[in-house]
Amino acid sequence: MKNAFGEYDIDVSQEKNYSCQICGLQYEEQALAQKCQDWCTQHQSCSLTIAKHAVRKPKYKN
Ligand SMILES: [Zn+2]
Repeated sequence: MKNAFGEYDIDVSQEKNYSCQICGLQYEEQALAQKCQDWCTQHQSCSLTIAKHAVRKPKYKN
């Protein structure tokens, strides 16, 4: 898949992940991403008990 700039976007499989908009960690479940985001918003830091469920951040091709 290519984006508007003609560059390859992240893999489709990784696009299915849900990410915390605050810390950027990605989760397979939306509920976990939401928990992380709620925590990050309130505490300005990540909860390890939540973050341990995170999947790897996608690698962008340069
Ligand atoms: Zn987070």
